[in-house]
Amino acid sequence: MAQAERSPANEDLAPIRESVRALCAKFPGEYWRDLDRERAYPTEFVAALTQAGFLAALIPEEYGGSGLSMTAAAAIMEEIQASGCNGAACHAQMYTMGTLLRHGSAAQKARWLPAIASGELRLQAFGVTEPTSGSDTLNLRTTAVREGDHYIINGQKIWTSRAEHSDLLLLIARTTPREAAPRRSDGLSVFLVDMRLAQGTGISINPIRTMMNHATTELFFDDLRVPAENLIGEEGQGFRYILSGMNAERILIAAECIGDAKWFIAKATGYAKERIVFGRPIGQNQGVQFPIARAYAQMRAAELMVGAAAALYEVGRECGAEANMAKLLAADASWAAADMCLQTHGGFGFAEEFDVERKFRETRLYQTAPISTNLILSYLAEHVLGLPRSY
Ligand SMILES: Cc1cc2nc3c(=O)[nH]c(=O)nc-3n(C[C@H](O)[C@H](O)[C@H](O)COP(=O)(O)OP(=O)(O)OC[C@H]3O[C@@H](n4cnc5c(N)ncnc54)[C@H](O)[C@@H]3O)c2cc1C
Repeated sequence: MAQAERSPANEDLAPIRESVRALCAKFPGEYWRDLDRERAYPTEFVAALTQAGFLAALIPEEYGGSGLSMTAAAAIMEEIQASGCNGAACHAQMYTMGTLLRHGSAAQKARWLPAIASGELRLQAFGVTEPTSGSDTLNLRTTAVREGDHYIINGQKIWTSRAEHSDLLLLIARTTPREAAPRRSDGLSVFLVDMRLAQGTGISINPIRTMMNHATTELFFDDLRVPAENLIGEEGQGFRYILSGMNAERILIAAECIGDAKWFIAKATGYAKERIVFGRPIGQNQGVQFPIARAYAQMRAAELMVGAAAALYEVGRECGAEANMAKLLAADASWAAADMCLQTHGGFGFAEEFDVERKFRETRLYQTAPISTNLILSYLAEHVLGLPRSY
Protein backbone atom coordinates (compact mmCIF):
# COMPACT_ATOMS: atom_id res chain seq x y z
CA MET A 1 0.00 0.00 0.00
CA ALA A 2 1.26 3.46 -0.85
CA GLN A 3 2.42 5.39 2.21
CA ALA A 4 3.81 8.88 2.63
CA GLU A 5 7.43 8.28 3.53
CA ARG A 6 8.14 11.78 4.82
CA SER A 7 6.09 13.91 7.20
CA PRO A 8 5.50 17.64 6.55
CA ALA A 9 8.24 18.19 9.16
CA ASN A 10 10.50 16.20 6.78
CA GLU A 11 10.90 13.19 9.07
CA ASP A 12 11.56 9.89 7.37
CA LEU A 13 8.56 7.82 8.40
CA ALA A 14 9.65 4.52 6.84
CA PRO A 15 12.12 3.50 9.61
CA ILE A 16 9.64 4.58 12.30
CA ARG A 17 6.92 2.44 10.74
CA GLU A 18 9.31 -0.45 10.32
CA SER A 19 10.48 -0.44 13.92
CA VAL A 20 6.89 -0.26 15.22
CA ARG A 21 6.04 -3.25 13.02
CA ALA A 22 9.09 -5.16 14.29
CA LEU A 23 8.09 -4.51 17.90
CA CYS A 24 4.46 -5.47 17.25
CA ALA A 25 5.52 -8.75 15.60
CA LYS A 26 6.56 -9.89 19.08
CA PHE A 27 2.92 -9.55 20.19
CA PRO A 28 0.96 -11.83 17.86
CA GLY A 29 -2.75 -12.68 17.77
CA GLU A 30 -2.55 -15.28 20.53
CA TYR A 31 -1.10 -12.71 22.96
CA TRP A 32 -4.12 -10.45 22.40
CA ARG A 33 -6.59 -13.36 22.41
CA ASP A 34 -5.39 -14.54 25.83
CA LEU A 35 -5.68 -11.04 27.26
CA ASP A 36 -9.08 -10.54 25.64
CA ARG A 37 -10.40 -13.71 27.25
CA GLU A 38 -9.27 -12.52 30.70
CA ARG A 39 -9.93 -8.82 30.05
CA ALA A 40 -6.33 -8.30 31.15
CA TYR A 41 -4.12 -5.27 30.44
CA PRO A 42 -1.26 -5.69 27.93
CA THR A 43 1.42 -4.63 30.43
CA GLU A 44 4.34 -6.18 28.49
CA PHE A 45 3.24 -4.56 25.23
CA VAL A 46 2.93 -1.11 26.79
CA ALA A 47 6.29 -1.54 28.56
CA ALA A 48 7.94 -2.50 25.25
CA LEU A 49 6.47 0.57 23.49
CA THR A 50 7.59 2.80 26.35
CA GLN A 51 11.08 1.33 26.39
CA ALA A 52 11.41 1.84 22.65
CA GLY A 53 10.44 5.50 23.17
CA PHE A 54 7.31 5.39 21.02
CA LEU A 55 4.99 6.70 23.70
CA ALA A 56 7.26 9.69 24.21
CA ALA A 57 7.08 10.59 20.52
CA LEU A 58 5.43 13.97 21.14
CA ILE A 59 7.55 14.96 24.15
CA PRO A 60 10.22 17.49 23.11
CA GLU A 61 13.83 16.28 23.15
CA GLU A 62 14.77 18.74 25.91
CA TYR A 63 12.46 16.74 28.23
CA GLY A 64 13.78 13.35 27.16
CA GLY A 65 11.24 12.57 24.43
CA SER A 66 11.86 12.18 20.74
CA GLY A 67 10.18 15.46 19.71
CA LEU A 68 8.45 13.96 16.70
CA SER A 69 5.60 15.58 14.77
CA MET A 70 1.91 14.72 14.97
CA THR A 71 2.23 12.97 11.59
CA ALA A 72 4.95 10.70 13.00
CA ALA A 73 2.90 10.01 16.15
CA ALA A 74 -0.09 9.17 13.95
CA ALA A 75 2.09 6.79 11.92
CA ILE A 76 3.10 5.01 15.14
CA MET A 77 -0.51 4.52 16.22
CA GLU A 78 -1.56 3.45 12.74
CA GLU A 79 1.18 0.80 12.53
CA ILE A 80 0.25 -0.61 15.94
CA GLN A 81 -3.32 -1.19 14.75
CA ALA A 82 -2.31 -2.37 11.26
CA SER A 83 -0.13 -5.01 12.97
CA GLY A 84 -3.17 -6.42 14.78
CA CYS A 85 -2.21 -4.96 18.16
CA ASN A 86 -4.37 -2.63 20.24
CA GLY A 87 -3.07 0.88 20.87
CA ALA A 88 -6.10 1.69 23.02
CA ALA A 89 -4.03 0.37 25.90
CA CYS A 90 -1.71 3.35 25.71
CA HIS A 91 -2.87 5.98 23.20
CA ALA A 92 -3.86 8.45 25.91
CA GLN A 93 -0.23 9.04 26.83
CA MET A 94 0.18 10.57 23.37
CA TYR A 95 -2.93 12.70 23.25
CA THR A 96 -3.21 13.97 26.82
CA MET A 97 0.32 15.24 26.38
CA GLY A 98 -0.86 18.21 24.29
CA THR A 99 -2.62 19.80 27.28
CA LEU A 100 0.50 19.63 29.45
CA LEU A 101 2.81 20.69 26.61
CA ARG A 102 0.73 23.63 25.46
CA HIS A 103 -0.72 24.87 28.72
CA GLY A 104 1.50 23.53 31.52
CA SER A 105 3.98 25.87 33.23
CA ALA A 106 7.74 25.50 32.72
CA ALA A 107 7.97 24.06 36.25
CA GLN A 108 5.23 21.50 35.58
CA LYS A 109 6.82 20.39 32.33
CA ALA A 110 10.24 20.07 33.97
CA ARG A 111 8.70 18.09 36.83
CA TRP A 112 6.55 15.65 34.87
CA LEU A 113 7.71 15.27 31.28
CA PRO A 114 11.15 13.66 31.81
CA ALA A 115 9.60 11.06 34.14
CA ILE A 116 6.83 10.36 31.60
CA ALA A 117 9.34 10.13 28.75
CA SER A 118 11.51 7.64 30.66
CA GLY A 119 8.50 5.50 31.59
CA GLU A 120 8.94 6.14 35.32
CA LEU A 121 5.47 7.75 35.33
CA ARG A 122 2.52 6.68 33.19
CA LEU A 123 0.10 9.38 32.00
CA GLN A 124 -2.62 7.16 30.59
CA ALA A 125 -5.85 8.35 32.24
CA PHE A 126 -8.05 11.19 31.09
CA GLY A 127 -11.14 11.97 33.20
CA VAL A 128 -13.73 13.99 31.28
CA THR A 129 -16.95 11.98 30.88
CA GLU A 130 -19.45 11.82 33.74
CA PRO A 131 -22.49 9.56 34.09
CA THR A 132 -25.08 12.33 34.27
CA SER A 133 -23.77 14.77 31.67
CA GLY A 134 -22.32 12.41 29.00
CA SER A 135 -21.42 14.26 25.79
CA ASP A 136 -22.53 17.56 27.36
CA THR A 137 -19.12 18.24 28.94
CA LEU A 138 -20.02 21.78 30.03
CA ASN A 139 -22.61 20.28 32.35
CA LEU A 140 -20.16 18.15 34.29
CA ARG A 141 -20.66 18.11 38.05
CA THR A 142 -17.35 17.13 39.60
CA THR A 143 -16.17 20.11 41.65
CA ALA A 144 -12.77 21.38 42.71
CA VAL A 145 -12.85 23.91 45.54
CA ARG A 146 -9.74 25.86 46.54
CA GLU A 147 -8.78 25.48 50.19
CA GLY A 148 -5.42 27.09 50.98
CA ASP A 149 -2.76 25.50 48.83
CA HIS A 150 -4.98 22.59 47.77
CA TYR A 151 -8.11 21.93 45.72
CA ILE A 152 -10.70 19.58 47.23
CA ILE A 153 -12.30 17.39 44.58
CA ASN A 154 -15.70 15.72 44.85
CA GLY A 155 -17.73 13.91 42.23
CA GLN A 156 -17.62 11.06 39.79
CA LYS A 157 -16.22 10.19 36.38
CA ILE A 158 -17.16 7.30 34.13
CA TRP A 159 -15.28 5.50 31.36
CA THR A 160 -11.95 6.69 32.70
CA SER A 161 -9.91 4.17 30.80
CA ARG A 162 -6.58 2.76 32.06
CA ALA A 163 -6.97 4.45 35.49
CA GLU A 164 -5.68 1.25 37.12
CA HIS A 165 -2.63 1.32 34.87
CA SER A 166 -1.69 4.96 35.12
CA ASP A 167 0.20 6.99 37.70
CA LEU A 168 -1.24 10.31 36.58
CA LEU A 169 -4.76 11.39 35.70
CA LEU A 170 -5.59 14.47 33.65
CA LEU A 171 -8.84 15.59 35.25
CA ILE A 172 -11.35 18.29 34.38
CA ALA A 173 -13.57 19.63 37.15
CA ARG A 174 -15.75 22.65 37.84
CA THR A 175 -14.06 25.42 39.86
CA THR A 176 -16.80 28.07 39.39
CA PRO A 177 -20.51 27.17 39.60
CA ARG A 178 -22.11 27.24 36.15
CA GLU A 179 -24.48 30.09 37.10
CA ALA A 180 -21.57 32.25 38.32
CA ALA A 181 -19.31 31.66 35.28
CA PRO A 182 -19.13 34.64 32.88
CA ARG A 183 -19.47 32.39 29.81
CA ARG A 184 -20.89 28.91 29.25
CA SER A 185 -17.42 27.53 28.59
CA ASP A 186 -15.80 29.20 31.63
CA GLY A 187 -15.41 27.80 35.12
CA LEU A 188 -13.84 24.42 34.36
CA SER A 189 -10.23 23.67 35.31
CA VAL A 190 -7.72 20.97 34.49
CA PHE A 191 -5.55 19.18 37.05
CA LEU A 192 -2.82 16.64 36.90
CA VAL A 193 -3.69 14.21 39.67
CA ASP A 194 -1.00 11.94 41.05
CA MET A 195 -3.03 8.80 41.61
CA ARG A 196 -0.20 7.04 43.45
CA LEU A 197 -0.73 9.46 46.32
CA ALA A 198 -4.50 9.60 45.96
CA GLN A 199 -5.63 5.97 46.05
CA GLY A 200 -7.36 5.13 49.31
CA THR A 201 -7.29 8.81 50.25
CA GLY A 202 -10.09 10.35 48.25
CA ILE A 203 -10.23 8.38 45.02
CA SER A 204 -11.70 4.95 44.35
CA ILE A 205 -11.68 3.05 41.08
CA ASN A 206 -14.20 0.45 39.86
CA PRO A 207 -13.44 -1.50 36.68
CA ILE A 208 -16.23 -1.70 34.06
CA ARG A 209 -16.32 -4.87 31.95
CA THR A 210 -17.06 -4.05 28.30
CA MET A 211 -17.60 -5.95 25.03
CA MET A 212 -13.89 -5.60 24.25
CA ASN A 213 -10.76 -5.58 26.38
CA HIS A 214 -10.40 -1.90 27.29
CA ALA A 215 -9.45 -1.53 30.98
CA THR A 216 -12.05 1.17 31.50
CA THR A 217 -13.30 2.25 34.93
CA GLU A 218 -15.46 4.58 36.95
CA LEU A 219 -13.88 6.91 39.47
CA PHE A 220 -15.31 8.35 42.67
CA PHE A 221 -13.77 11.40 44.33
CA ASP A 222 -14.47 11.98 47.98
CA ASP A 223 -12.64 15.05 49.30
CA LEU A 224 -9.61 14.27 47.19
CA ARG A 225 -6.85 16.80 47.97
CA VAL A 226 -4.86 17.94 44.96
CA PRO A 227 -2.00 20.45 45.45
CA ALA A 228 -2.81 23.80 43.79
CA GLU A 229 0.50 23.55 41.93
CA ASN A 230 -1.07 20.70 39.92
CA LEU A 231 -3.58 23.07 38.29
CA ILE A 232 -2.73 23.29 34.58
CA GLY A 233 -2.82 26.82 33.17
CA GLU A 234 -5.34 29.30 34.51
CA GLU A 235 -8.24 28.41 36.75
CA GLY A 236 -11.55 28.44 34.83
CA GLN A 237 -9.98 28.05 31.38
CA GLY A 238 -9.80 24.24 31.39
CA PHE A 239 -12.46 23.62 28.76
CA ARG A 240 -10.41 25.52 26.18
CA TYR A 241 -7.28 23.55 27.05
CA ILE A 242 -9.13 20.25 26.77
CA LEU A 243 -10.67 21.28 23.45
CA SER A 244 -7.29 22.10 21.92
CA GLY A 245 -5.96 18.75 23.19
CA MET A 246 -8.94 17.02 21.68
CA ASN A 247 -7.79 17.79 18.16
CA ALA A 248 -4.69 15.70 18.87
CA GLU A 249 -6.91 12.97 20.29
CA ARG A 250 -9.15 12.96 17.19
CA ILE A 251 -6.16 12.80 14.81
CA LEU A 252 -4.43 9.98 16.69
CA ILE A 253 -7.61 7.92 17.06
CA ALA A 254 -8.35 8.49 13.36
CA ALA A 255 -4.87 7.16 12.55
CA GLU A 256 -5.64 4.08 14.66
CA CYS A 257 -8.82 3.57 12.65
CA ILE A 258 -6.80 3.78 9.43
CA GLY A 259 -4.49 1.11 10.86
CA ASP A 260 -7.48 -1.07 11.75
CA ALA A 261 -8.93 -0.64 8.25
CA LYS A 262 -5.58 -1.66 6.74
CA TRP A 263 -5.48 -4.74 8.96
CA PHE A 264 -9.03 -5.76 7.95
CA ILE A 265 -8.33 -5.17 4.25
CA ALA A 266 -5.07 -7.17 4.31
CA LYS A 267 -6.70 -9.97 6.27
CA ALA A 268 -9.70 -10.13 3.91
CA THR A 269 -7.51 -9.97 0.80
CA GLY A 270 -5.29 -12.78 2.06
CA TYR A 271 -8.27 -14.96 2.93
CA ALA A 272 -10.10 -14.25 -0.32
CA LYS A 273 -7.05 -15.46 -2.28
CA GLU A 274 -6.69 -18.67 -0.30
CA ARG A 275 -10.20 -19.83 0.48
CA ILE A 276 -11.39 -22.20 -2.26
CA VAL A 277 -15.14 -22.70 -2.65
CA PHE A 278 -16.85 -23.95 -5.82
CA GLY A 279 -13.40 -24.90 -7.06
CA ARG A 280 -11.93 -21.38 -7.11
CA PRO A 281 -10.70 -18.73 -4.69
CA ILE A 282 -13.65 -16.77 -3.30
CA GLY A 283 -11.72 -13.59 -4.24
CA GLN A 284 -12.24 -14.46 -7.91
CA ASN A 285 -15.91 -13.54 -7.47
CA GLN A 286 -16.61 -9.87 -7.96
CA GLY A 287 -19.24 -10.13 -5.22
CA VAL A 288 -16.34 -10.75 -2.83
CA GLN A 289 -13.77 -8.48 -4.53
CA PHE A 290 -15.84 -5.34 -4.74
CA PRO A 291 -16.53 -4.85 -1.02
CA ILE A 292 -12.76 -5.23 -0.40
CA ALA A 293 -11.95 -2.71 -3.13
CA ARG A 294 -14.59 -0.32 -1.82
CA ALA A 295 -13.21 -0.58 1.74
CA TYR A 296 -9.74 0.15 0.36
CA ALA A 297 -10.93 3.27 -1.48
CA GLN A 298 -12.80 4.46 1.62
CA MET A 299 -9.73 3.93 3.79
CA ARG A 300 -7.43 5.78 1.37
CA ALA A 301 -9.78 8.78 1.24
CA ALA A 302 -9.97 8.93 5.04
CA GLU A 303 -6.18 8.59 5.24
CA LEU A 304 -5.81 11.79 3.20
CA MET A 305 -7.97 13.69 5.68
CA VAL A 306 -5.95 12.33 8.62
CA GLY A 307 -2.77 13.55 6.91
CA ALA A 308 -4.33 16.97 6.24
CA ALA A 309 -5.45 17.36 9.86
CA ALA A 310 -2.05 16.29 11.24
CA ALA A 311 -0.23 18.68 8.90
CA LEU A 312 -2.35 21.63 10.08
CA TYR A 313 -1.94 20.61 13.73
CA GLU A 314 1.82 20.50 13.56
CA VAL A 315 2.17 23.99 12.16
CA GLY A 316 -0.15 25.28 14.89
CA ARG A 317 -3.04 26.15 12.55
CA GLU A 318 -6.70 25.77 13.44
CA CYS A 319 -7.66 22.18 12.59
CA GLY A 320 -10.93 21.54 14.46
CA ALA A 321 -12.90 20.81 11.30
CA GLU A 322 -10.20 18.60 9.75
CA ALA A 323 -9.50 16.71 12.99
CA ASN A 324 -13.20 16.01 13.44
CA MET A 325 -13.67 14.98 9.80
CA ALA A 326 -10.60 12.75 10.00
CA LYS A 327 -12.07 10.98 13.03
CA LEU A 328 -15.50 10.63 11.41
CA LEU A 329 -14.23 9.35 8.04
CA ALA A 330 -11.57 7.06 9.51
CA ALA A 331 -13.96 5.53 12.07
CA ASP A 332 -16.47 4.92 9.28
CA ALA A 333 -13.74 3.42 7.07
CA SER A 334 -12.55 1.06 9.82
CA TRP A 335 -16.07 -0.02 10.67
CA ALA A 336 -16.93 -0.64 7.00
CA ALA A 337 -13.69 -2.61 6.59
CA ALA A 338 -14.45 -4.61 9.75
CA ASP A 339 -17.88 -5.58 8.45
CA MET A 340 -16.46 -6.45 5.03
CA CYS A 341 -13.69 -8.57 6.60
CA LEU A 342 -16.12 -10.52 8.76
CA GLN A 343 -18.35 -11.16 5.74
CA THR A 344 -15.40 -12.24 3.58
CA HIS A 345 -14.44 -14.82 6.19
CA GLY A 346 -17.90 -16.41 6.28
CA GLY A 347 -18.32 -18.52 9.43
CA PHE A 348 -14.61 -18.44 10.25
CA GLY A 349 -14.85 -14.69 10.86
CA PHE A 350 -16.72 -15.52 14.04
CA ALA A 351 -14.04 -17.90 15.32
CA GLU A 352 -11.73 -16.37 17.92
CA GLU A 353 -8.54 -17.78 16.37
CA PHE A 354 -8.90 -15.60 13.26
CA ASP A 355 -8.77 -12.39 15.36
CA VAL A 356 -11.39 -10.80 13.08
CA GLU A 357 -14.19 -10.83 15.65
CA ARG A 358 -11.84 -9.33 18.29
CA LYS A 359 -10.71 -6.49 16.05
CA PHE A 360 -14.34 -6.04 14.92
CA ARG A 361 -15.40 -5.48 18.54
CA GLU A 362 -12.43 -3.23 19.24
CA THR A 363 -12.90 -0.90 16.26
CA ARG A 364 -16.63 -0.48 16.86
CA LEU A 365 -15.80 1.72 19.85
CA TYR A 366 -14.68 4.56 17.58
CA GLN A 367 -18.21 5.26 16.41
CA THR A 368 -18.89 6.32 20.01
CA ALA A 369 -15.64 7.35 21.72
CA PRO A 370 -13.85 9.62 22.29
CA ILE A 371 -16.60 11.55 20.52
CA SER A 372 -19.64 10.01 18.95
CA THR A 373 -20.40 10.41 15.26
CA ASN A 374 -23.50 12.56 15.86
CA LEU A 375 -21.54 15.08 17.86
CA ILE A 376 -18.99 15.44 15.04
CA LEU A 377 -21.78 15.95 12.49
CA SER A 378 -23.32 18.53 14.76
CA TYR A 379 -19.95 20.35 15.06
CA LEU A 380 -19.57 20.43 11.27
CA ALA A 381 -23.16 21.53 10.74
CA GLU A 382 -22.98 24.39 13.21
CA HIS A 383 -19.35 25.53 13.21
CA VAL A 384 -18.37 24.91 9.60
CA LEU A 385 -21.66 25.27 7.75
CA GLY A 386 -23.26 27.87 10.01
CA LEU A 387 -26.50 25.96 10.54
CA PRO A 388 -28.55 26.89 13.64
CA ARG A 389 -27.44 25.48 17.01
CA SER A 390 -29.42 22.45 18.07
CA TYR A 391 -28.16 22.35 21.68
C1 LIG B 1 -14.80 1.87 26.22
C2 LIG B 1 -14.89 3.34 26.45
C3 LIG B 1 -13.76 4.05 26.82
C4 LIG B 1 -13.85 5.43 27.09
N1 LIG B 1 -12.76 6.09 27.59
C5 LIG B 1 -12.90 7.36 28.05
C6 LIG B 1 -11.84 8.02 28.76
O1 LIG B 1 -10.74 7.46 28.92
N2 LIG B 1 -12.08 9.24 29.28
C7 LIG B 1 -13.28 9.89 29.14
O2 LIG B 1 -13.43 11.00 29.64
N3 LIG B 1 -14.30 9.29 28.46
C8 LIG B 1 -14.14 8.06 27.92
N4 LIG B 1 -15.18 7.44 27.26
C9 LIG B 1 -16.46 8.13 27.15
C10 LIG B 1 -16.81 8.53 25.73
O3 LIG B 1 -16.05 9.64 25.37
C11 LIG B 1 -18.32 8.76 25.71
O4 LIG B 1 -18.93 7.48 25.82
C12 LIG B 1 -18.77 9.46 24.46
O5 LIG B 1 -18.26 10.76 24.41
C13 LIG B 1 -20.30 9.50 24.38
O6 LIG B 1 -20.83 9.99 25.60
P1 LIG B 1 -21.96 9.16 26.37
O7 LIG B 1 -21.53 7.74 26.44
O8 LIG B 1 -22.26 9.83 27.64
O9 LIG B 1 -23.20 9.20 25.42
P2 LIG B 1 -24.42 10.26 25.49
O10 LIG B 1 -23.90 11.63 25.55
O11 LIG B 1 -25.37 9.81 26.53
O12 LIG B 1 -25.07 10.03 24.06
C14 LIG B 1 -25.79 8.82 23.75
C15 LIG B 1 -26.09 8.83 22.25
O13 LIG B 1 -26.92 9.96 21.94
C16 LIG B 1 -26.30 10.74 20.94
N5 LIG B 1 -26.56 12.17 21.24
C17 LIG B 1 -26.44 12.80 22.45
N6 LIG B 1 -26.76 14.10 22.31
C18 LIG B 1 -27.07 14.29 21.01
C19 LIG B 1 -27.47 15.43 20.25
N7 LIG B 1 -27.63 16.65 20.79
N8 LIG B 1 -27.71 15.26 18.93
C20 LIG B 1 -27.57 14.06 18.34
N9 LIG B 1 -27.18 12.95 19.01
C21 LIG B 1 -26.95 13.08 20.33
C22 LIG B 1 -24.81 10.42 21.00
O14 LIG B 1 -24.21 10.62 19.75
C23 LIG B 1 -24.83 8.96 21.40
O15 LIG B 1 -24.92 8.13 20.26
C24 LIG B 1 -15.09 6.09 26.92
C25 LIG B 1 -16.22 5.37 26.50
C26 LIG B 1 -16.14 4.02 26.27
C27 LIG B 1 -17.39 3.27 25.87
